[in-house]
Amino acid sequence: MSQLYVMCPECYLELPLRKTVGEEAYFMTVLGNVLDEASIASVVQTHAILSLETPITEVHFVHDPQCSVVKDNSSASASLEELIHKNRSFIAESAPDLPGVHFWCIRSRLSDGTLELASI
Ligand SMILES: [Zn+2]
Repeated sequence: MSQLYVMCPECYLELPLRKTVGEEAYFMTVLGNVLDEASIASVVQTHAILSLETPITEVHFVHDPQCSVVKDNSSASASLEELIHKNRSFIAESAPDLPGVHFWCIRSRLSDGTLELASI
């Protein structure tokens, strides 16, 4: 069993996430973690391909509140929470079979190189 982590490529999270969650994880990137039809299709396809080797039981979307992609593209009224709410609804609609979907927000980057994550 393994897990798939989806993160923004501009937030440079792969190394700290690997230190935080260990080696039994796969990583892929979606710019800003802003999901649309193409990116969710890519997540579903990546999940299916990886699951041929080892079952992927959970998919984690990790958001950095400091993400410049989200900050630069959101209007004043669109917060990170609203983006996550949209993503959650979009996955429920367009990829209901994706297993164990979780959303995380980075609370802090710790001095040992790991991340403190908050479930949202
Ligand atoms: Zn980012």
